[in-house]
Amino acid sequence: MLDAVQRSVALKACRAHRTVSLHSALILARLLPLDIRVREVAWLYEVKRGKDLGDTFVDRELERPVYFGDLPHPAHVPEIGYESVEDLDPQTVDRLAVVGPRIFTDGSRIEGKVGAALTEWRDGRETWYSTLRLDPFCTVFQAEMVALQRAIRRVKNGKDGLVNIFSDSRSSLEVLAGPKTYHPLAHEARRDISEIVAEGRAVRLFWVRAHAGIAGNERADELARRAALTKKTAADYDRFPLSYAKRVIRAASLEEWQERYAEGGTGEITKCFFPRVEQAYRVLRKTEMTSHLAQTLTGHGGFSQYLHRFKLKDSPYCACDPAKIQDVLHVLEECPMFLRERVALETEIDVIVGRGEFPTIVEDDQKRAKFLDFCCKVTEKTSKLNRD
Ligand SMILES: [Zn+2]
Repeated sequence: MLDAVQRSVALKACRAHRTVSLHSALILARLLPLDIRVREVAWLYEVKRGKDLGDTFVDRELERPVYFGDLPHPAHVPEIGYESVEDLDPQTVDRLAVVGPRIFTDGSRIEGKVGAALTEWRDGRETWYSTLRLDPFCTVFQAEMVALQRAIRRVKNGKDGLVNIFSDSRSSLEVLAGPKTYHPLAHEARRDISEIVAEGRAVRLFWVRAHAGIAGNERADELARRAALTKKTAADYDRFPLSYAKRVIRAASLEEWQERYAEGGTGEITKCFFPRVEQAYRVLRKTEMTSHLAQTLTGHGGFSQYLHRFKLKDSPYCACDPAKIQDVLHVLEECPMFLRERVALETEIDVIVGRGEFPTIVEDDQKRAKFLDFCCKVTEKTSKLNRD
């Protein structure tokens, strides 16, 4: 029943003939089978409530937003803002009256590894630094956020009356300064800032442009990269982001769908172009679906073989040869009526137009555009000839 409901929707979405199979229609409409999609949503719901994200993620926790009931009363939160500086030359420092120690923070993702660092400067010299390693599935944003939170924690645990913290991540500062933030690290940092302020001390936050030659920022950047690449200790932070959970769940869904699609007896023509569902969704996202394209990718269209099958034409054969069945593959690959267009295309993309090459051709952005254009023209002309 689910299939029937979804098939009619998918057919409309991809403008295909109503004889097209469920599997082909789902691929062209870029939809997951409804039952798989439902399980996906349920799984994500469970993960959000603390369930493991599969075997490899036992003991790992999702970075969950703070429950709104745990947020402090707005009246108890000091106003948090940040200033933007392009440079830290003496004039800027004077203008903004930057006094006291400075802590620079940075996060880095490099070669699939993630690190963060903070470095403290007094009187123009580094006096302390710390590096952190994050698990590889963490994002740069998380790394920036961890570094910022640790810097604020350090100020809270210290004695200084005023400390300046510099980050080159505007998004982290925005989350930290936002009126309502559910991010757990920002939440911790804001609580620390409240305590600092309650003690009559202060922390000033600054955004600095990255790679602008600011010594402290360059140093934090270098330390963060080094931490990502070389630090071998247990991760200092390993909460995985929701985006990662979504990716893992989607990959599992696509794998299940792939198996069903490959084993299914329908969608043979669609499989010639897209043997893999993952590729189909990725490629078709960049392509505008038209009726002619849908006819090409399903084989259900104005081809003699199709028309004959549904009793709309006396014979399934092509006008070029009374022994040749005219289906979409015939007109694309071998029909002499389209020889000129085919040769022109083959010269342009430097590939022989044959079903074995289709998946490779559609993978390449430039070749795909020319190839699909050829497909649509051939399909359109064939339909027209069969109608006349
Ligand atoms: Zn022919």
